[in-house]
Amino acid sequence: MSFFAYKNGEMHAEGVALAQIAAQVGTPFYCYSAGALRAGWQEFADAIKGMNAPHGASICYAMKANSNLAVIRLFGELGAGADIVSVGEMKRALAAGIAPGRIIYSGVGKKPSELMAALQAGVGQINVESSHELETLNAVAGQLGVKAAITIRVNPDVDAKTHAKITTGRKENKFGIDIDLARDAFALAGRLPNLDVVGVAMHIGSQLTSVDPYRDAIVRVRELIGQLRQDGHSIERFDIGGGLGIVYADEKPPSIADFMSVVKRETEGLGCELTFEPGRRLVGEAGVLVSEVILVKPGAAKTFVIVDAAMNDLIRPTLYEAWHDILPLRQPRPDAATIRCDIVGPICESGDFLAQNRDLAPLSAGDLIMVRSAGAYGAVMASSYNSRPLAPEVMVDGTRFAVTRPRPTIEEMLSAERFPPWMEPTKA
Ligand SMILES: *Cc1c(COP(=O)(O)O)cnc(C)c1O
Repeated sequence: MSFFAYKNGEMHAEGVALAQIAAQVGTPFYCYSAGALRAGWQEFADAIKGMNAPHGASICYAMKANSNLAVIRLFGELGAGADIVSVGEMKRALAAGIAPGRIIYSGVGKKPSELMAALQAGVGQINVESSHELETLNAVAGQLGVKAAITIRVNPDVDAKTHAKITTGRKENKFGIDIDLARDAFALAGRLPNLDVVGVAMHIGSQLTSVDPYRDAIVRVRELIGQLRQDGHSIERFDIGGGLGIVYADEKPPSIADFMSVVKRETEGLGCELTFEPGRRLVGEAGVLVSEVILVKPGAAKTFVIVDAAMNDLIRPTLYEAWHDILPLRQPRPDAATIRCDIVGPICESGDFLAQNRDLAPLSAGDLIMVRSAGAYGAVMASSYNSRPLAPEVMVDGTRFAVTRPRPTIEEMLSAERFPPWMEPTKA
């Protein structure tokens, strides 16, 4: 079922016409479908039900994909924990009602002050990525008089076959500890008195469209777990990370059920509790970015459709050469002629585009469009470059909608800044 669909010629998010939200909220804005978020969650929840008994399996939503408080809360109410990469995200997770014990703290460069804040809040698991971090965390935990529950993230050196900027499990990537050096790291962790080593973690990349890299990585980590147990470590948890891909164009990512059946087969008899950290897969297709056409500029080679959303709102096309489907909110007639165009923002950068070389039914000033599959790594990566206010975020649930993050006014944006005291006050 699609939660974004034309009804009577008008694009709807569930039971709400997106044009109606645009009229009320203004453009650009992000819109998330609660139904789609729940459906995405349900697919995971169903697939892990009864899996891996008696050790069980759990899901910690990787909130860097979309950290809107309402989104986190929706998942939290359905039973999700949270995978965080900063203290800011930790505070968001707590504010959204996630129990501290259900939070996993990931990241390649955690500062002592951040580790301290995490331990003070009582986060359930810290995934350590270097020997240096083991030592630092041990010292911080000692200062606080607590024992830190950790896994060590290993880098299994597999090719996730995804975009270079989002592959994380190769030797040449900065993430995790090289699997060949992992036994030494576990030995070190075992000697440090304030660490409680509970397991092994991995996360091999993002937007994976095949289960094969997961299979290869799990086989390697499984072998490591055997060695670690021989070395005397009790390995109770295996954190498999996130990374499952979604549909932007014509990708064919595996179903969650197929993914889980591979995981199940490869971890059979391993005797570990499993953790999954999906981000993109839970939110990507559940969100769209809606924008209004400012003007249409015919060119010799192609037409430029200049819209009021830009690279500061959605950086993925520029950053990852990402392809996002663009649809007009008013359904074109099936026999409508198309023109070749670039959908671009108003920012003074040639990289400021949302889509290039698309054949779309002609658009004109005032028309509304939506950028599909914008729920992950969209609003969270936005900036206010060009002093453009962050686009608001809206959640639709059935026939209701609510703004979950309003658009800041320019005055609010300016009020966050200060003149140095030696400058003359500005004349009011
Ligand atoms: C980013 C990240 C995830 C989520 O990745 P997705 O591709 O969005 O599923 C999970 N775990 C860790 C450690 C991450 O850094």
